[in-house]
Amino acid sequence: MIKRKLLRVYGIVQGVGFRPYVYRIATSLGLRGFVRNDTLGVEIEIEGDEEKIETFKERLRSECPPAASIHRLVEEEIEARGDSNFLILESATGEERETLISPDLATCPDCLRELFDPGDRRFRYPFINCTNCGPRYTIIEDVPYDRPNTTMRKFEMCPECRAEYENPADRRFHAQPNACPVCGPEVWLVNREGEKIRFGDSIRAAARYILEGKIIALKGLGGFHIACDATNDDAVKRLRALKKRGDKPFALMAPDLETVERLCFLNDKERELLTSPRCSILLLEAREDAWKVISRDVAPRNRYIGFMLPYTPLHHLLLRETKRPLVMTSGNLRDEPIVKDNDVALEKLSGIADYFLLHNRDIATRIDDSVARVIDGKEVLIRRARGYVPAPLSLAFTSDKEILALGPMMKSTLCFLRGRRAFLSQYLGDNDIYDNYLYLLEIKERLEKLFGFNPELVVHDLHPDYPTTRLASEMGLPSLAVQHHEAHLASVLAEKGLVDAEVIGVAFDGTGYGRDGRIWGGEFFIGRVGNFERRAHIAYFPLPGGEKAIEEPWRIAFALLKEVLGEEALETPWAVKLRTNHNLEAVLRLAETEKLSPLTSSAGRLFDGVSSLLSIRHRITYEAQAAIELEMAADPKVTDSYEPRFMEDGEDLILDVKALIAEVYDNILRGTPVPMIAAKFHNWLATSVLKFAEFAREERGTDRVVLSGGAFQNRFLLERTLEMLRRKNFQVHFNEKVPTNDGGVSLGQAYTAALLLREGRL
Ligand code: ZN
Ligand code: ZN
Ligand code: FE
Repeated sequence: MIKRKLLRVYGIVQGVGFRPYVYRIATSLGLRGFVRNDTLGVEIEIEGDEEKIETFKERLRSECPPAASIHRLVEEEIEARGDSNFLILESATGEERETLISPDLATCPDCLRELFDPGDRRFRYPFINCTNCGPRYTIIEDVPYDRPNTTMRKFEMCPECRAEYENPADRRFHAQPNACPVCGPEVWLVNREGEKIRFGDSIRAAARYILEGKIIALKGLGGFHIACDATNDDAVKRLRALKKRGDKPFALMAPDLETVERLCFLNDKERELLTSPRCSILLLEAREDAWKVISRDVAPRNRYIGFMLPYTPLHHLLLRETKRPLVMTSGNLRDEPIVKDNDVALEKLSGIADYFLLHNRDIATRIDDSVARVIDGKEVLIRRARGYVPAPLSLAFTSDKEILALGPMMKSTLCFLRGRRAFLSQYLGDNDIYDNYLYLLEIKERLEKLFGFNPELVVHDLHPDYPTTRLASEMGLPSLAVQHHEAHLASVLAEKGLVDAEVIGVAFDGTGYGRDGRIWGGEFFIGRVGNFERRAHIAYFPLPGGEKAIEEPWRIAFALLKEVLGEEALETPWAVKLRTNHNLEAVLRLAETEKLSPLTSSAGRLFDGVSSLLSIRHRITYEAQAAIELEMAADPKVTDSYEPRFMEDGEDLILDVKALIAEVYDNILRGTPVPMIAAKFHNWLATSVLKFAEFAREERGTDRVVLSGGAFQNRFLLERTLEMLRRKNFQVHFNEKVPTNDGGVSLGQAYTAALLLREGRL
């Protein structure tokens, strides 16, 4: 019986070799009709024997190309038209937009083989790609994903490329960025004055400069990188000085997996992630002797190295020449968005880079490298960007309204929520820096255009002065403010698909505006999304000088010590040592007025204070440095803990900080080794979570614990907490798909709004 069916395929189905794959299945079954892209995804009309159409549908799902993913298939029977063959048609453009755009994909093994095959016409061609790999999100300017809607539009394909592009049997059939040395983009090398360097192969020349200790800015996939030889101390030091980078670790790119294996401890999951098409920077534990090879200046006092493997042909060619790990850090000025255009690079980065490796395939949208680590056998994202964005996260229910969440201020992301999907933007940096705020506006518009978003509700942070709070009020839409730490917890529930669960929620974080106007960050909740009750918190302590105290943890340490010892704090050995170059008396006076010394319950700030008390870090050069160095100092063999004490204050429980500091200080005086004290402090926090969880289980009968907030990036803390809770049979959830730091907050904001709407509470 001859039938004709209209199939609509939703999901990541454009730019991933989907149509050629449909074509191959259809023709192998002798079916007729057509396939085409539209703004909703892929549309197929298929005609032929009914049974064969069923087989076709089965194979469509079971043989799906690696980078594609079918989220939904809708079918409808239509009238047979008697077609004689199966065709791939031009894209249709429609009004409604739901196509999912593929994230960028690392060079596939087939392309890599051709890249280094002297007989191949793309031998050493830095823009080789196919339907299984190459740029996607970074070159798309509009949907549907077709060449005229990408930055490849200006390159006209040569006859050979065109033939591949049009041949359904070819790996490059409808590969939009398809190109070759005859017709495609090219690279060139310039000095910082912008003058071309001509001696043969630009990439070889760049590699030679790197090996000589020079610094190179190179245009990559989502923006510029700045590269130098990671084994050359002088080069790394010079890059640090020029980039005004302080001690913040640099990411490295290794030529191959074997190199990483020699320098770091790897498990199977880490090996799998390093070589996946997403190709994130993975934080790996360095082997002892790694630092004999890698400059210690790459990650001062850190036990981890952030490694990634080459993910574009250009990287492969460069690293094949250098044969050693390179620093591969974002090409930007401190804390600004990553640079994506040649002229801007020459203007902004000429004080840093000696040479520039440029190319003429424009970057439509900038995007940073993603950063991940493996915890508890799972991939946990620290920065969600290239390779993940703009693929959406699936939700457990369908929202009737479209929601836009504007995120917090630091490490910001946007989140569009529509139907059952949450679309998180790439990492957008801290939007107290104006250029980053402009970047946020740019990405907001871009996502609205690409996906046809039209939000009906806007969500923002509770903080009255964040730029995004003002933006929300200017949008003229109904709006909702969500408290920072409640949003952190909601982000975990969103990614785990938990809707109605009552949970015990603990947020250990740096900074977030609290419901009482104070700076929160050590919060213990019980409740459900949209209805969290703050039952306990770390006792408030002062931040003398506010923002200044974040940069200078010694101020916090001093304030903490003063809480315990009063004026005598001035005479402690710790204070005496600092005295000569720190104005302790001034800070003492500051600490007396709340206006100049805001109160906080932040776990992050407590880390800072303890770090300084242990003389690990008094001033920081990058965010969370004092806390990170305290983690690095902690001895993992120590299971001893300071005893957490919750004091009753009406309905609230207050986690006693004074008692903790008294014990820490006593240990310092007794000469207890720093690694022991650092570990006991971590264990104190973990034990406080356990104690609160046991209290909450007793009271409410729930045994589900949710952990979120930037402090849980601390592996020691997270693993200890998991261990303790699981031993007492708690079910524990923490962020994996979105960062536990502020990068995941926008998801929690949007999810909170969606749930409140669903329950008619908004
Ligand atoms: Zn490929
Ligand atoms: Zn060509
Ligand atoms: Fe936070």
